[in-house]
Amino acid sequence: MSFFSTRGGACVTASQAILYGLAADGGLYVPAMFPQISRKKLLELVNMTYCQRASAILRTYLEDFSIPEIDAAVSAAYAKDKFDDAAIAPLRRLNDSTYVLELFHGPTLAFKDMALQLLPHLTTLSARKNGEEREVSILVATSGDTGKAALEGFKDVPGTSCTVFYPMDGVSRVQQLQMTTTGGDNTHVIAVKGNFDDAQTGVKALFSSAEFAGDMNALGKVLSSANSINFGRLVPQVVYYFSAYADLLARGDIQPGEPVNFVVPTGNFGNILAAYYARSMGLPVGRLICASNRNNVLTDFFSTGIYDVRRQFFKTTSPSMDILISSNLERLLFEVADRDGELIATWMRQLKECGSYSVGEQRLDWLNAIFASGFADDRQTAEEIRTVFLQEHYLMDTHTAVASHVLREYRQRTGDATPTVIVSTASPYKFAGDVLSALRDEGAPRETDAFRCAEALEQLSGAPVPAQVRELRNLPVRHTAWCEKDTMGQAVLRAFEPDSCC
Ligand SMILES: *Cc1c(COP(=O)(O)O)cnc(C)c1O
Repeated sequence: MSFFSTRGGACVTASQAILYGLAADGGLYVPAMFPQISRKKLLELVNMTYCQRASAILRTYLEDFSIPEIDAAVSAAYAKDKFDDAAIAPLRRLNDSTYVLELFHGPTLAFKDMALQLLPHLTTLSARKNGEEREVSILVATSGDTGKAALEGFKDVPGTSCTVFYPMDGVSRVQQLQMTTTGGDNTHVIAVKGNFDDAQTGVKALFSSAEFAGDMNALGKVLSSANSINFGRLVPQVVYYFSAYADLLARGDIQPGEPVNFVVPTGNFGNILAAYYARSMGLPVGRLICASNRNNVLTDFFSTGIYDVRRQFFKTTSPSMDILISSNLERLLFEVADRDGELIATWMRQLKECGSYSVGEQRLDWLNAIFASGFADDRQTAEEIRTVFLQEHYLMDTHTAVASHVLREYRQRTGDATPTVIVSTASPYKFAGDVLSALRDEGAPRETDAFRCAEALEQLSGAPVPAQVRELRNLPVRHTAWCEKDTMGQAVLRAFEPDSCC
């Protein structure tokens, strides 16, 4: 399988797409075509383990990897000591037609682990396949969860290093501690004075800077990306949509070929794009419902066809979705535009120079045949957590609750009774403070200590605090570096200086 750039250029192998992350013309790598999973193949998935399902899906894209290589990578990534549920991505039934796909059973309690436990294995294999002898230096901009997941994935992986930028005041206390207490000799964590878009824009600028590439090369390093723009992040995410469908078949809750909807709490558009890829590979999907928080630029896009970032940025209780520029949307635009790279390049230029672009009426119709969308503000999110807990005895985190609220409104609006999977992206313990206040009576004093919140949540819900949260309290903070948003390159180089501790 070859990979092209969304902006028209490039023709590379899967391993090159993974190793280099972003195409030289600034575009994202996309597969030349969508491999098809037949009905028969889909039925075969039913009796497979998660690892076997992953291997079956991955090998359709990763043609320059051998099957034993893929099998070994998958087994290492989804090992029993990394995930606290044997199903890896268990599907829970909430009520007659609603399910929750729990993607937070990995080491950092968020769905990013599903991809970032696997990516380092794919990256080191890709380096070897392409004769790359320099250290593969991963640069990440994070809205909170990617950073820790990347650090955990790449920590002490030989031949790699991992540097994470996070917005100084834009992540939860638990998220920040998770990152700044990370061990490993090859990890660096740097706070940026700015919001997530500043951090992401800064990292993108470093990736396209020849000068910075030269500085890194002089240190024996080559840049690579672990952000969700990397195809190696996307392809592991395609797997769990197939896996959820196979689980529904296994339960006998759907018949082969019957469509299923997915509602996805969306930020950078990676997770829901993977669902679109699964659909394009033949998975029977009804609607893909794109759920946003108050930063509802995507809701507006799906209703008007205009993507317009000229708006206020809000900090919300679902910080991993506090994003105005959803990078992975570019891969969907590529399909909307009938794979016309020049048109994508034009739209992206308009976005950069004028802050908006429009895809036009006909392309909007195309989108609306597949996608629905909606958003929840913080109050609606809190209400949803409370309602679902009282009615279904199920505890959701804030991001998952955004999706659940959007589904509730979608069903009221459309009457669509298709079985629907809510994609759950984080453990409620990762955002314990906001989940706790949602459950408590209004007017109750607000607890601010993250650990006490977790304990209170345990008492209320009966679900034990995960070890990853409990042990955070006693881990020393190892990373204290910070920088301005326009000096991120220097901060990276400083982190690599021999006597820099972090
Ligand atoms: C990253 C993240 C999201 C957003 O996912 P995208 O792939 O960026 O759309 C949603 N929820 C949580 C908890 C996340 O960590």
